[in-house]
Amino acid sequence: MMWLKGCPRCKGDLFEEAGINPEVYGVRFVNCLQCGYSLSPEEEAQLARPKQQALSSTAQRRFLASAAGRS
Ligand SMILES: [Zn+2]
Repeated sequence: MMWLKGCPRCKGDLFEEAGINPEVYGVRFVNCLQCGYSLSPEEEAQLARPKQQALSSTAQRRFLASAAGRS
């Protein structure tokens, strides 16, 4: 998972990676490729939101298309 230009500090590209050490195994981190900034859980939650909007707008488009086909 990647977010282009999503870094709140430098507008760099963010990428998600999973912890591989035993103490952080399975924990996911979102880091910036350019500056190494690690997002807080709050900032990560904000990243996930556009994905949900994209899903609902796709559903809306399908709804609008079927509504247009009926009239
Ligand atoms: Zn950055």
